[in-house]
Amino acid sequence: MLKLEILPAGHGDCLWIEYGDKRKPRRILIDGGARGCYKRALARRFAGGPVELELLVVTHVDADHITGVLDLVADPKAGLKPKDVWFNGFRHLPDEKPDTLGPVQGERLTDALVGRKLPWNKAFDRKAVQTPTKGSLPKVTLADGLTLTLLSPSADKLAELRPEWEKECAKAGLDPAKRPAAAPRGSGGLLAARPALDVDALAGTRFEEDDSEANGSSIAFLLEFDGKSLLLAGDAHPGMLRTSLDKLRGKKKLKVTAAKLPHHGSKHNTSIELIEALDCKRYIFSSNGSHFDHPDPEAVARVVKAAKSPALLFNYKTEFNEGWANAALQKKWGYTAVFPDAGKDGLVEEY
Ligand SMILES: [Zn+2]
Repeated sequence: MLKLEILPAGHGDCLWIEYGDKRKPRRILIDGGARGCYKRALARRFAGGPVELELLVVTHVDADHITGVLDLVADPKAGLKPKDVWFNGFRHLPDEKPDTLGPVQGERLTDALVGRKLPWNKAFDRKAVQTPTKGSLPKVTLADGLTLTLLSPSADKLAELRPEWEKECAKAGLDPAKRPAAAPRGSGGLLAARPALDVDALAGTRFEEDDSEANGSSIAFLLEFDGKSLLLAGDAHPGMLRTSLDKLRGKKKLKVTAAKLPHHGSKHNTSIELIEALDCKRYIFSSNGSHFDHPDPEAVARVVKAAKSPALLFNYKTEFNEGWANAALQKKWGYTAVFPDAGKDGLVEEY
């Protein structure tokens, strides 16, 4: 059994994975979502006794990924018992100066990991979770043979985050959750006022890769269990992912059961090249559209165009994705759009 829950994480990510024996499943948690996600979707899972996690991953320091994990480690009632935590703190960024402060949230998590003596990057010998410059990608095996092949970040991507982390630190007291959006929020107009989705035009728009250092530092991996595989891409840069995927796939497309697309379906993180490296039928977009209006129609159109009869999975139904529900559009392009049941947020996938 391999089950993936794409929890309602606001504009962020929070993925709950269960695998192995259905009666006594093993668990992995990837990110904790934006503010409110912990209370909404995670707290009850940790109430009432220790909950063992095979692994807890904080892909990167951005608030829409780390906030729910900070709430989790701060909740005295939560029975958190991780066997390992993967998180790249300031000390893991190249050219470290020990004990230097970094962005508020990253430092808060660092304090919690150290203060509670939680295992930290154990699988990487307490060093950075990163891909090597040369040679094969790191592959970590968890209990019952589940494997994780690391795709991102590289040491270069982590190094790029370092000045950013220092800059954030200099602005003491800054709440990263309140950082202004990189792009202004859209008009939020009615769907009726939106232009029809022209897949060819949208997919064909010039691709400009995400230049956020924090996103580039995202931990991303290929999870494999029992013949099934999941690409879990955090907010990683597509060029980095493509480079790593190319190492795994040779000349063939890499077969994956489902792919959680990077950065909530941003047009700067979903490239045609990334989709073309995959033989995949299920593409996951995790976002409620707040703050950044994700997913971008350009990114969805690239999946529709470059993948073969894909299912598009949205963990919320919003004004930013409901246009893809159009039956004529689905028929024309041979894709399926999947949304949560009415009145519910989040999706559960069992493979
Ligand atoms: Zn994010």
